[in-house]
Amino acid sequence: MKFTDLKLNKSIQNALADLGYETPTPIQEKVFSVVMSGADVCGIAQTGTGKTLAYLLPLINQWKFSKERIPQILVLVPTRELVTQVVETVRSLSAYSELVVTGVYGGTNINTQRIALQPGCDVLVATPGRFYDLAVTNAFKTRGLKKLVIDEVDEMLNLGFRPQLLNILDLLPAKRQNLLFSATLLEEVNQLMNQFFQHPVMIEAAPAGTPVENILQTAFEVPNFNTKINFLKLLFREDASMTKVLVFVDTKKLADTVYESMEQDFPGVIGVIHSNKEQNFRFQTVKNFKEGISRAVIATDIVARGIDIAEVTHVINFDLPPVPEHYIHRIGRTGRADKKGIAISFITEKEKDALKEIQKLMKLEVALETLPAHLVISDELTEDEMPKVHMKEPMVKIPKKEERGPAFHEKSAKNLKVNKRVSQKEKMKKKYGKPKKRPGKK
Ligand code: AMP
Repeated sequence: MKFTDLKLNKSIQNALADLGYETPTPIQEKVFSVVMSGADVCGIAQTGTGKTLAYLLPLINQWKFSKERIPQILVLVPTRELVTQVVETVRSLSAYSELVVTGVYGGTNINTQRIALQPGCDVLVATPGRFYDLAVTNAFKTRGLKKLVIDEVDEMLNLGFRPQLLNILDLLPAKRQNLLFSATLLEEVNQLMNQFFQHPVMIEAAPAGTPVENILQTAFEVPNFNTKINFLKLLFREDASMTKVLVFVDTKKLADTVYESMEQDFPGVIGVIHSNKEQNFRFQTVKNFKEGISRAVIATDIVARGIDIAEVTHVINFDLPPVPEHYIHRIGRTGRADKKGIAISFITEKEKDALKEIQKLMKLEVALETLPAHLVISDELTEDEMPKVHMKEPMVKIPKKEERGPAFHEKSAKNLKVNKRVSQKEKMKKKYGKPKKRPGKK
C-alpha cells in the first residue's frame, strides 16, 4: 500500500511527496478508512508509530474551505511542545491548500493568543486549559468544531486534565466525530470513551506494552546517585556514538542537579527541560537538541512525552520511572521511524522491583550488564539516600477517659472565675472591719 492508493486530495499528495513519505505506517492505513467513514476512533499507538499523521491525514482530507474561518478541527494535546509540533505537521500537510492552523497553550500571555486568533483559523491545536479559557471568553467560535482529536489522552489524565476535558466536551457541538489516541488503554480512558464516544472503532498499532523492536535495552546495577553521575560522565567521555541522548530523571530537582554536574564537565552541550522552566527556555532547549547543538537533554517524563526528535541515539534512564508504562514511552524516543536505538537504565537496589514490573509489562527481560572496571564507585550518599534516623517519639501519657473527668472539671472551674472589681472601700472594710465614726463628725 502506498499513499497514492489512499483517496487523498492532490494538495495532500503533493505535501507528502515533499516530505518524502511514500508508504503509510500500519496505524495510518487502518485509521484512514475508519475516519473517512465517519466513525469515532480509539487508537492505541505508541510514539513513533506515525499516529500524528494517522489522524491528521483523513481529517485534513475531509476539511472544506469556508469563508467564515471558524475552527472545524480541534486537536487537544497535553504539552506546549506537542502543540508546536502538531502545528508544524499540519502546516507541512497543508502547504498546497488554504487551510490555516493556529496553536494555543498555557504558560504564555493569553491576550497575544487572543489576537493571533482574531483573523480566524480552520484547525486549532491546543492544550486543554488554554483552549477552555479562550473558548469561554469567545476568542473563537466553537459551533464549527465537528472533528475532535484528543492525543496522548493517558498522559492528559495522568496530568489531571480530566475536569478540563469534561468541560471542553460540554462546549463542543454534540454532533461531531471523535478521535482519541493513547499509548496505553487505561481504565480511565475506557470510561471517558464509553461516556462520550459513539461506538468507537478500536485500532491498535502495536499491543500496549510492547516496546519498539529495534531498541537495544540494557541495564546496569549502580549503587547510588553519585556513582550514577560518574557513570553518565564516563559514558559521555568514552562513547562517541552518544550524539543525541535523552537522559530521564524522576523529578525537576534531580534534573537540575544532574544538569549542573554534567554542564561542569561538558560545558555548552547539555540541556535541561522540565515543567518549571520558562517557555522560551524550553523551546530553545528542544531546538538546540534537534539541531545537534547540544548532545544531551536531561528531562522529566512530562515534557519529553510525545516530542518528536529524530535520530535520538540513546535514551538513558538515570532512574527508573515509578509507572512501568512511562519506561516504554521513554525508550520510544529512540529507535523511531526505523532507526536503531539504545536504551540504558541505571538501577539501584531500591529500583529492582520497578525493573521487575517493567519486564512483566513488556514480557521481556532487560539484559543486565556489568559496570566498567574503571568506573569510580562513590560511597558518598546524598541526603535522600542517607539511612533515615528515626527519633524516638517522646512518650506523652494521655490520661484515660475516665481519669480525665475531675482534672478537666477543676480546670474549667478555675477558668470560670470571674474578675470581680472590688472597691478600695470594701477592701479596707474587709481588712479593718467597719470604720468607726470619727468623733465630731456628723
Ligand atoms: P509520530 O508517531 O506521529 O510521533 O511520528 C513519528 C515520526 O515518524 C515523525 O517524525 C513522522 O514525521 C514520521 N513519519 C510519520 N509517518 C511516516 C511515514 N508514513 N513514512 C515515514 N515517516 C513517517
